[in-house]
Amino acid sequence: MIELGSYVEGKWVKGKGKAAQLVNPATEDVVATTSTEGLDFAAALSFAREKGGPALRAMTFTQRGEMLRAMSRAIHGKRDELLSIAQANGGNTRGDAKFDVDGASGTLAAYADLAAELGDTNTIVDGDAIQIGRGARLFGQHVYTPREGVAVHVNAFNFPAWGLAEKGATALLAGMPVITKPATSTAHVAHRMMEIFVEEKLLPEGALSFVCGSSGDLLDRLGGQDVIAFTGSSITAAKLREGQSVLRHGTHINVEADSLNAAILGADVEEGSDVWNLFITDVVREMQQKTGQKCTAIRRIYAPKSKIDAVLEALRERLAAIKVGDPMREEVTMGPVATAQQIRDVRDGVKNLESCAKIVFGSTTVAEPIGVAAGKGFFTTPILLHGASPKPDDAVHMHEVFGPVATVMPYDDVKGASALVAAGGGGLVTSIYADDKDFIRSAVLALAPFHGRLTIGSAKVAGQSLPPGMALPQLLHGGPGRAGGGEELGGRRGMALYMQRTALQGDRALIEAIASKK
Ligand code: NAP
Repeated sequence: MIELGSYVEGKWVKGKGKAAQLVNPATEDVVATTSTEGLDFAAALSFAREKGGPALRAMTFTQRGEMLRAMSRAIHGKRDELLSIAQANGGNTRGDAKFDVDGASGTLAAYADLAAELGDTNTIVDGDAIQIGRGARLFGQHVYTPREGVAVHVNAFNFPAWGLAEKGATALLAGMPVITKPATSTAHVAHRMMEIFVEEKLLPEGALSFVCGSSGDLLDRLGGQDVIAFTGSSITAAKLREGQSVLRHGTHINVEADSLNAAILGADVEEGSDVWNLFITDVVREMQQKTGQKCTAIRRIYAPKSKIDAVLEALRERLAAIKVGDPMREEVTMGPVATAQQIRDVRDGVKNLESCAKIVFGSTTVAEPIGVAAGKGFFTTPILLHGASPKPDDAVHMHEVFGPVATVMPYDDVKGASALVAAGGGGLVTSIYADDKDFIRSAVLALAPFHGRLTIGSAKVAGQSLPPGMALPQLLHGGPGRAGGGEELGGRRGMALYMQRTALQGDRALIEAIASKK
């Protein structure tokens, strides 16, 4: 049995007491155990603040970028090993595992590129200098400098590799040391990534620490220069927001939480057209990939009443081709959900959705998943529901079922569709499929206040469109309300969480010399 450790104070340590088990969700075999009991989190924080922080702040963006590039290459160099671990511990098909692991190396590489643009300095100038006096001498200028604390990263179970990398890349490039904590149930791949970074000595001492298991009292020990970046459920997010560090010491917190992402089909889209095919392909991919366990997956599908039957038929046909089973088998195209708790939540969640919609495809039990011993594993088929007369207070607008589950609903006009999407309380991403410019404009203006990202699938981009469920390092990831109100990635925008913006006032030449110092 593999016993995983945590990497704190510049060394690997193992916890005592009862260990948590990490299982293979297809076989229910235990693949590893871990515990953080007895770890000295106060010392872990001091080490990161006192060793990692100064070392990173002494580096320019160019140097930090070289570090991120080396991390990206190191992961890519061990790609096959990491994919196998992700498959065994996460229930991922090989394609799912690539989405996570390649997403991690790709995001680190994208931030390495951004570092090259930021150059041989370690402050970021925000906007132009502003004349604030009557004469041409007295000026103001905003600048960003790295916070002098620790960034604690708490990640969800669905993207152990990408979660570590996307949060890590922004914080490390900004100049903050990181203590990263994957969700315990699927932590094995993140643990191996951390081992690789340590073995290859890619970071200064204290720049990156790793907690494998419960975070104990770590979050209660943070102060005003520290940051919490959290991804997970809104229930956990609420607990963290009420933590004493946030309430009493002003610890900065960013939350990425649940999201009832939507897809809207425009009335102008003809069945069988490129835009129609893009819409159907996106919906099916978002239900199937990672067994629907993506914060960006499409949960609600809106189509004009006249097109509902055709949409249901096209989706049912595509969903029927999905092969559920052990994701280690090549013919399998959808694995299990990640944990026993997840499958219970999916089953309860679908029952809740049935209060406002009918199942038109699938079931939460699978008679014979491919290559799996009888009665083993946490399997469901994809499940499509149809809500014939949606109302804003229906369960489908309140409850995120974190699995391969989505609901098709009709709308009357763009106003009605936008109101139903907004009833989801704020989301990460909604995708609009149409060519009618008035429809698209009205939908974008109505939906933008409720979303961090909108994707528009029109005929001109149908052949090159990127999936709505793919968070890109160049564009913002996050959303208001239910989605947590956070912002990650978006190039340098995501770095703002880890840096203090300060307005400098004084002699223009002096301020410009400070702000532009190489
Ligand atoms: P979760 O149960 O809230 O756990 C998330 C993380 O929080 C895990 O690392 C967990 O650690 C930790 N945690 C739980 N309770 C804690 C506490 N009291 N103090 C400190 N840390 C605590 O969520 P999940 O089940 O892993 O993830 C699924 C949810 O995440 C879904 O709702 C999904 O929508 C959301 N999600 C959102 C995004 C986004 O970017 N918006 C991305 C992915 C997922 P342990 O595992 O050790 O308990």
